[in-house]
Amino acid sequence: MRIAVIDYDRCNPDKCGHFLCERVCPVNRMGGEAIIIDEENYRPVIQEASCTGCGICVHKCPFNAITIVNLPEELEEGCVHRYGVNAFVLYRLPVVKDGMVVGILGPNGTGKTTAVKVLSGQIVPNLCGYNDSWDAVIKAFRGNELQNYFERLKKGEIRPVVKPQYVDLIPKAVKGRVRDLLKKADEAGRFEEVVKELELENVLDRDIRHLSGGELQRVAIAAAMLRDAHFYFFDEPSSYLDIRQRLRVARIIRKLADSGKAVLTVEHDLAILDYMSDIIHVVYGKPGAYGIFSQPKSTRNGINEFLRGYLRDENVRFRPYEVSFTKKSERKSQDGEILVEYPRLVKDYGGFRLEAEGGTLYVGEVIGIVGPNGIGKTTFVKMLAGVEKPTEGEVDWTLTVSYKPQYIKVDYEGTVFELLSKIDAGKLMNSFYKTELLNPLGIPDLYDKKLDELSGGELQRVAITACLIRDADLYLLDEPSAHLDVEQRLAVSKAIRSLMAKNEKTALIVEHDVMMVDYLSDRLIVFEGEPGRSGKALPPMGMREGMNRFLASVGITFRRDPETGRPRANKEGSVKDREQKERGEYYYV
Ligand code: ADP
Ligand code: ADP
Ligand code: SF4
Ligand code: SF4
Repeated sequence: MRIAVIDYDRCNPDKCGHFLCERVCPVNRMGGEAIIIDEENYRPVIQEASCTGCGICVHKCPFNAITIVNLPEELEEGCVHRYGVNAFVLYRLPVVKDGMVVGILGPNGTGKTTAVKVLSGQIVPNLCGYNDSWDAVIKAFRGNELQNYFERLKKGEIRPVVKPQYVDLIPKAVKGRVRDLLKKADEAGRFEEVVKELELENVLDRDIRHLSGGELQRVAIAAAMLRDAHFYFFDEPSSYLDIRQRLRVARIIRKLADSGKAVLTVEHDLAILDYMSDIIHVVYGKPGAYGIFSQPKSTRNGINEFLRGYLRDENVRFRPYEVSFTKKSERKSQDGEILVEYPRLVKDYGGFRLEAEGGTLYVGEVIGIVGPNGIGKTTFVKMLAGVEKPTEGEVDWTLTVSYKPQYIKVDYEGTVFELLSKIDAGKLMNSFYKTELLNPLGIPDLYDKKLDELSGGELQRVAITACLIRDADLYLLDEPSAHLDVEQRLAVSKAIRSLMAKNEKTALIVEHDVMMVDYLSDRLIVFEGEPGRSGKALPPMGMREGMNRFLASVGITFRRDPETGRPRANKEGSVKDREQKERGEYYYV
């Protein structure tokens, strides 16, 4: 079975020399019609039945607008929805079960939202043909776990509730005080309980316009929880939250399922996905072209298969490399060359005071910076970057610093390529940078885009790239995982490690995604204190000591998965959790 997908946003028939694909297609040249021109819409159409899959048009198109893939025949009957001719195709769906949290793991653009729209009844799937009836859908899913679900959906018995992905857009859609908004949503009569669980007491009387990202996230989750529905979908519930808040949210979502509700969630923080899901589906394919939901898998096994890049039951390798975690012996030791010894620094904002103890940074190491929101991590990084002046102490070094802030401002009018070329055109041509950074982050595909046209995730990848191609002694990256999907997080982590090792440079990374922190860091700087009031930054310490200190303050223990070495959060009160807490071992090294 062959599918051809054309990204018409990229296709530009006038700029490729007038329908180049049609002119180079060997089938067309022999008098056939694999590619025809839709005169009305002024665009090419690939007829899948006539196309031989030679791939010539794919390689010739200067805008990378065409995807042609051969897929196994047996997928055909799992074809759920296609948005049109040469458009995105979705194969198979996740299961939805009362009393279960079903996690979805995979890159953006592979149909997760489409699947949710089907499951919430927003679109009747066309079954990749001309279907518009639920009866045909029920028939197509006969014998499948979803048959009964679709029967109930058709009868109007399923009420869905969705916590959207982009919580920052909420203030544009709803207005008013948090208390009033949540009271209005409270069909379940659980206002007090949910507000307490999500620690929203302090923001109840604020206008929704004046909330931070993390507060908006928790309000959005609360609003969904308070509805009395059958099916709840949480799209990226961890964004903007710190680790303690993430685990809290994960526990509340679990509780919702334990009360008998069906819950589906997309989450890119794998430790959190792991913690909250009963089963997971891996979604694979090519973003924008097609997506396939795997069979349901046990959470542990599914995440392990995902990290390996190979799905065993499906016999599919979807990534050329495996993700492996750095063993203690491989981490950079501190007997190397010293980069700098930084002094004790204090920043006093009046309402908030940060005291950072001095410390030593070594050449070639990556240091993770961890701690709750509002504890001064960004303030610390800004002082090192020379953006913020300390109240006490001085950063008077000759080191060059390259800094990626947490919130990225777009104040450049040109294209991505122009911006990056201005920083270092040579690196864009350098084969090491191409293989280690630019290609894995999908940067060349963005070259022609204007900066103000980029989505949050695209902007993040460009900002990370801009930071990493600049020549510097010290790289500071504040929350590189924000807006990135799980595949991109892995790519960014891998790129940072390999650039620092190869160029013998030092990086400091502020991050809440525990698996990324673990994957990336040689050592840690731990922040402690009282969020919003006072913070203290400890000197850099080893991973074991640092993680123990950090996790003890959060009250969570982690173990390591024996197969992949990835960190897994222990369920609270489990035997392992209790044993580790007794020993003071919050984190296995
Ligand atoms: P995800 O949630 O995994 O990011 P989506 O389900 O939102 O993925 O989208 C998958 C792909 O489907 C997108 O890349 C987009 O190209 C395509 N798509 C989404 N909605 C439409 C639509 N209404 N018409 C055509 N294509 C669409
Ligand atoms: P984190 O990065 O750990 O979330 P931040 O360094 O961003 O923490 O902020 C720590 C505290 O300092 C917060 O309470 C924040 O409101 C306050 N703060 C940050 N910048 C300023 C500023 N320019 N003026 C006053 N207070 C500030
Ligand atoms: Fe030209 Fe590519 Fe569009 Fe074909 S798909 S018309 S080659 S831009
Ligand atoms: Fe023509 Fe080959 Fe492209 Fe198919 S893959 S449309 S046969 S050029």
